[in-house]
Amino acid sequence: MIELDHLEKVYLAREGSHRALHDVSLTIGEGEIFGIIGQSGAGKSTLVRCINLLERPTSGRILIDGVDVTNYQGRDLRRLREGIGMIFQNFSLFQQRTVLDNVMFPLTIRGEKKDHAKKRALELLDVVELADKAHRYPSELSGGQQQRVAIARALANNPRIMLCDEATSALDTRTTVSVLNLLAKINKELGVTLVVITHSLAVARHICDRVAVIDEGVIVEEGPTRQVLENP
Ligand code: ADP
Ligand code: ADP
Repeated sequence: MIELDHLEKVYLAREGSHRALHDVSLTIGEGEIFGIIGQSGAGKSTLVRCINLLERPTSGRILIDGVDVTNYQGRDLRRLREGIGMIFQNFSLFQQRTVLDNVMFPLTIRGEKKDHAKKRALELLDVVELADKAHRYPSELSGGQQQRVAIARALANNPRIMLCDEATSALDTRTTVSVLNLLAKINKELGVTLVVITHSLAVARHICDRVAVIDEGVIVEEGPTRQVLENP
């Protein structure tokens, strides 16, 4: 479903160029929970941001369902991004908007009628078990609750793919487990393919079917989680 084909990414900076990805090829299957693991600076975010074209690779191709999307622009790019939800370590909620408005946001910018967007947002808040917080502001919620709002927002456009960039790194262990269980439920019940960036082997073991290990921009290992993470 997601195919990365010989990706290279070079960032140009004043101090010189930095190669963040080198010869990265990966295939992520429909319905999988796929982990990208590696240390800080290894290139995980860059890799995952190539999937929704928040970063453009310097060379190589990105295929979604066999279609080369690498050079998508304009309307094609917007459609592609609508089909890919994303959540972040810092939740990235709009602080001045209520929980409900945060979840309605992707729907209203797409032009949905307000009452329809509201109904859908309330359904999504139900999925993440936060319907009772609809009229609160993010700062009134715990970290785990805020991440669940972000998950509801990411689901608003019915994405088939969700990118999770260190989504539990700001949470304590118990909250991490509950957010991971929610993501697993979304994967199973809604069939959303998950790409999970983490530096935590425990997180990868808890949720990922397969993982790729990235080091200095190079995939050094890839396979079923148990196999990759239990080898000496
Ligand atoms: P990770 O997610 O594994 O921490 P990143 O993909 O964020 O790694 O970064 C990989 C490397 O690319 C790092 O050395 C980082 O400093 C560099 N990098 C990331 N984004 C940029 C950018 N916009 N400009 C220049 N260098 C960048
Ligand atoms: P403000 O101007 O109020 O600070 P921003 O426009 O900078 O808000 O966005 C706040 C956060 O919401 C950002 O971290 C951004 O990543 C996230 N965000 C912005 N647009 C979207 C969107 N269409 N879908 C999901 N998250 C978004």
